[in-house]
Amino acid sequence: MADKEPALFKYYPELKKSVSHLSLADFPTPVEKLDEIGNELGFKNLYIKRDDLCSSLYGSNKVRKLEFFLGDALAKKCQEVITIGYAGSNHSLATSIYANLNNLKSISILMPQVNAHYVRRNLLASHYYKGQLFYYDNYLSVGVGLLNQIAASFLKYRNFPKYIPGGGSSPEGVLAYVSAALELNDQISRKELPKPDVIYVTLASSGTFLGIMLGLKLLNLDIEVIGVRVIENYLTPQRKMVKLFNDTSALLNKKSKKIPLVKISEKDLHIREEYMGSGYARFTKKGVNATRLMHQKKGLKLNGTYTGKAFAAVLDDIKKPENKDKNILFWNTYNSCDLSDATSQVDYRMLPENLHKYFENDVQDMDPGIDR
Ligand SMILES: *Cc1c(COP(=O)(O)O)cnc(C)c1O
Repeated sequence: MADKEPALFKYYPELKKSVSHLSLADFPTPVEKLDEIGNELGFKNLYIKRDDLCSSLYGSNKVRKLEFFLGDALAKKCQEVITIGYAGSNHSLATSIYANLNNLKSISILMPQVNAHYVRRNLLASHYYKGQLFYYDNYLSVGVGLLNQIAASFLKYRNFPKYIPGGGSSPEGVLAYVSAALELNDQISRKELPKPDVIYVTLASSGTFLGIMLGLKLLNLDIEVIGVRVIENYLTPQRKMVKLFNDTSALLNKKSKKIPLVKISEKDLHIREEYMGSGYARFTKKGVNATRLMHQKKGLKLNGTYTGKAFAAVLDDIKKPENKDKNILFWNTYNSCDLSDATSQVDYRMLPENLHKYFENDVQDMDPGIDR
């Protein structure tokens, strides 16, 4: 059933003319029943949406978003894309990989984060795929670094690089998850899963969460979407999320009058704040336990910064009596493809010197070493 056209274009074919898109992966991604874990915990109806399986090279939510960003980069004849993230950013890695595959150069402006095994892997893999990494130890110099790189790229190519915001969350990127929600609706219609009562998804730059909400709202599908926050509130405050949701709806409505304008307010956002722990990328006990369980029972790797924390919320909630008869869907946004062929060919000393500390210093104590 897998094919290349996003569900967005099947529902609204008129968008094909006005929305740039480049196919990078196979959709729909599978939905599976998580019986291995459901049985263990005495919960009947737990499902997982496997966005990790959209590609056999590198999966995840970032691939869906990059289909729109890189599509636009090619349409605008950019030679380079530029993005920003933390040192171990999955988004930066995905950008390096898929830009490289499409003959685009990629630049990542990176910022400090707590160390973990996956940070090392992502840095090595980015280098393997020719991502140009620029690390700024000091947050104040990040903005200057970004502008310098944009200017250098312009001077080199006489054309601006395509700027992809951190985490890929702008209206353009949110379209990817509007499409993903439409895709899920088709899977519900085909009875690949019952209609979920609740969807749980990791929330960082928020585009994934908001796109799913917007897609469901356009369908008038009454499903609660819970975003499990893993990044500090000041970076993606609720006020900013409402704006991003409404801006994306406005973009769709501008491109096609057949798509109604919908709006939300802050009270429509169902966000769980208590799973982040002491900060972005700092692993938590609950997150690590959830990661261990998924690895033992399902052989699937979660990520201590992102999906481990979201799945911890699922594990707490399925124990609550009021949820006993619900259909619950955990939307997996991480990658599960092995990158060791790529990383084994890179020595960390090939990276910029100010990144070497991630290899020479220990990882955080909580890192269980599953995701490396
Ligand atoms: C980036 C990322 C997220 C968060 O998605 P946003 O759209 O930024 O909220 C969730 N899970 C993983 C594995 C990620 O890399």
